[in-house]
Amino acid sequence: MARYNGPVCRLCRREGEKLFLKGERCFSPKCAFERRSYAPGMHGRQAQYRRKESDFALQLRAKQKARRLYGIYERQFRRYFREAQRQKGLTGVNLLISLESRLDNVVYRLGFSSSRAQARQIVLHGHFDVNGRKTNIPSYLVKPGDIIAVRDISRGKTYFKEVSQILDDSQVPAWLSLDPTNLTGKMVDLPSRDDIDVSINEQLIVEYYSR
Ligand code: SF4
Repeated sequence: MARYNGPVCRLCRREGEKLFLKGERCFSPKCAFERRSYAPGMHGRQAQYRRKESDFALQLRAKQKARRLYGIYERQFRRYFREAQRQKGLTGVNLLISLESRLDNVVYRLGFSSSRAQARQIVLHGHFDVNGRKTNIPSYLVKPGDIIAVRDISRGKTYFKEVSQILDDSQVPAWLSLDPTNLTGKMVDLPSRDDIDVSINEQLIVEYYSR
């Protein structure tokens, strides 16, 4: 499937907030949103003075923000939504739990990468085992009890040597555990809504797809 290859910082400017899509750059003065915190394009500056946004616009923005944050295309995102509808509980929360359980997100949350895009790349390059089996599918859904580990063959690589120096098990969310010495993590439990620290109004996404 084709992926978005355009300027990533435009996505933050479009959503009107920092989505932290570029790792360390997002925390530096080079962050485009710090320098130009208005929407991209010729009329971007004027957009902030426009009249109040419609309900549809708010729903669309919530959906787009979630997609962009997790780096997922529309068709796949819609599949996650349909699956969330089939599950018990609140659809919006189920959706966020599925997105958080993706292998690339778990790798990012464990601190093996500085952004979800980077996590996606190192997963695709086959640097991880899940329960002892090589897994290079970023959308693989991690389940409670699953062990995610950097593969033996990858541990000697400069990237992982550097990462192991900065891994900090106190930084990982409560639903994950990390063994920095062995470059191994575990999903202890499914995340609850309170564990998911993304500023997304999932109810607006439900409303968007329920039109
Ligand atoms: Fe967004 Fe990061 Fe770009 Fe800043 S540097 S605009 S936070 S992707």
